Amino acid sequence: MPTQPLETLFRPEVLSMSAYHVADASNFIKLDAMENPYNWPEDIQARWLEALKTCPINRYPDPEAKTLAVALRRANGIPEQSALLLGNGSDEIIQILLMALNADAVVLAPEPGFVMYKQVAQSLGLHYRGLPLLADSFALDMPAMRTAIAESQPALIFIAYPNNPTGNLFDAEAIKEILTIAPGLVVVDEAYAPFADASFIGELGHYPNLLVMRTVSKLGLAGLRLGFLAGEPAIVEQLHKVRLPYNINSLTQLTVGFALDHGGFLLEQTQTLRGERTLVFQALEGMPNIQAYPSAANFILFRTLNKAADTVFASLKSQGVLIKNLSPQGGLLHNCLRVTIGKPEENQAFLSALAAALN
Ligand SMILES: *Cc1c(COP(=O)(O)O)cnc(C)c1O
Repeated sequence: MPTQPLETLFRPEVLSMSAYHVADASNFIKLDAMENPYNWPEDIQARWLEALKTCPINRYPDPEAKTLAVALRRANGIPEQSALLLGNGSDEIIQILLMALNADAVVLAPEPGFVMYKQVAQSLGLHYRGLPLLADSFALDMPAMRTAIAESQPALIFIAYPNNPTGNLFDAEAIKEILTIAPGLVVVDEAYAPFADASFIGELGHYPNLLVMRTVSKLGLAGLRLGFLAGEPAIVEQLHKVRLPYNINSLTQLTVGFALDHGGFLLEQTQTLRGERTLVFQALEGMPNIQAYPSAANFILFRTLNKAADTVFASLKSQGVLIKNLSPQGGLLHNCLRVTIGKPEENQAFLSALAAALN
């Protein structure tokens, strides 16, 4: 240990934080982390392994990931005039964005929302302000949003579209109003774009403060860690100064590029998952004492009405099914659980286990 106490070495906001907890999922049916449950078709996997042989892992990766950037632009319809920033997952992009802000900046996000916004903002000592969504609908509370923007002049607003953990798409007109009245940056986080039929990529030319963020994680490449952000070149240029030069490793650059070039199977998998989402939602809606919330993502949020969510979660776990218990977060998430859509047999196992847990 150093001679100085840790309390004098580390910032108070770091000392008071708790680390992001990831549950140990070994031996569970894993429906907790919005992963695509499917593997790659064997023939494509074989071609990918061939391609990997050409990967020069003795060299540093291309710091600009130029080849991959071209593939990402094409696959996501990023307009020519928007600049691109790649990150080691969109988590790293959140960190890069917040590291570049002024030390006294206010960061605003609707809540419940993606926990990393708050986690990273607080770790950097920024002023984080969470704004409650409307109860029941989880829609944006626009009167509160207008007041909060006017009062705290946020340097950055995060809007997840669809939102995690609620699964809904906010009203697009409300987001456009936020883009118009916000004095700073507005990040529309489209992590679940493969499962939604809505996007702000088409608005990139219309709002100079709009940044659209996406990731390949929920599409089915979570292990590769790749996210990206598109927006005004003058803004993105500042972010590149904060980014570490080789943040996207060679294996990820090659593999994501390969997957996008052979991406048909990923789209088929997301189609299957969308179909399963409908089936799981209908099954949940048919259960007494469950309130399920409509989702445009690859998970469904639901509330337990006659038993504590903690009890139901523990029962599912004892039956070998791991989902996410959001009830400890409290507020609007009281008695809420979140299940990721898996393979048909995994979803069936979850539904049977849930029925047993509610009995
Ligand atoms: C999963 C998720 C991310 C993080 O994605 P990575 O690219 O895997 O870091 C970002 N935003 C939201 C809303 C998410 O749910």
